[in-house]
Amino acid sequence: MKERLISLMAEAKNEIEETISLEILENLRIKYLGRKEGIFTQLLKQMANLPFQERPETGKLINEIKNKVTQLLEEKGTTLKSKGKAQKLSQEKIDITLPGILPELGKLHPITKTLKEIIDIFIRLGFQVAEGPEIESSYYNFDALNIPSHHPARDMHDTFYVSQDIILRTHTSPVQIRVMEKQLPPLRIIVPGRVYRRDADISHSPMFHQVEGLFVDEQATFSDLKGVLSTFVHLIFGSETEVRFRPSFFPFTEPSAEVDIACVICAGTGCGVCKYTGWLEILGAGMVDPEVFKIVNYDSTKYTGFAFGLGVERIAMLKYGINNIRLFFENDMRFLEQF
Ligand SMILES: [Zn+2]
Repeated sequence: MKERLISLMAEAKNEIEETISLEILENLRIKYLGRKEGIFTQLLKQMANLPFQERPETGKLINEIKNKVTQLLEEKGTTLKSKGKAQKLSQEKIDITLPGILPELGKLHPITKTLKEIIDIFIRLGFQVAEGPEIESSYYNFDALNIPSHHPARDMHDTFYVSQDIILRTHTSPVQIRVMEKQLPPLRIIVPGRVYRRDADISHSPMFHQVEGLFVDEQATFSDLKGVLSTFVHLIFGSETEVRFRPSFFPFTEPSAEVDIACVICAGTGCGVCKYTGWLEILGAGMVDPEVFKIVNYDSTKYTGFAFGLGVERIAMLKYGINNIRLFFENDMRFLEQF
């Protein structure tokens, strides 16, 4: 019995030393110390077969070896646990000296940016923002603006028709009528929004943005028009920008003018962009035609007013030196990231 116990001790020591995982160690613990089937439990049971005088010494030896094995198992357990922890830590290592990844910041689209800038300028000049529908009746888009169906100006507009009387608005001017129908002067409004024309090349898009302006009061004059629009041009293109007013024609204003600025590319000396004239047209304007006031029941002997319209894409192209309108709508990140 004694020899068997000594060799058991050596065997257990060996097995525990060679253990490489906590699972195997747990199996060993059950093998040796298990309450029902464990080797030591079996040994203590077998004591009953020993001669009476041998029992105390053998019992003592069994307990000694059992305590030793218990101690070895505990030590090995501790070693394996700390080893596992160190391994886990080295696998999950995070290098906190690496540079961080910055989240991508969104930016405003150049059209949105230009539109905001235009609106801000007119708000500073005392105007309020008004809006209207993009799907419009031909009455508001044409007839009420002194463009009857036989009028040649309708051809200029290249209209998208939804039905005979319903169209996609070709300009933001119908909102002038909608506002004047509901409100009496004094009026100072601007109307930003999308408009649609069947037209597409490097400077025209079937959908583009306009800002319409309307000023109506008892003594509004052409010099007010010139003052407001010159101030606008100087605020958006810089105070040095030269402005000129050139006679023109629109069915809903009389007299009418087109507003040119000195070419921003060649500073007036002549280039391809300004077709060697040194000037760039940027907006149309004029005194509201008394015929339009008649339609909305304004007393044209009492009130005068001026209106203007400008293309937002055109302003943005000139401001940022963009030579193709399609760039605004292709959503190419290489283009959009520059703003
Ligand atoms: Zn030029």
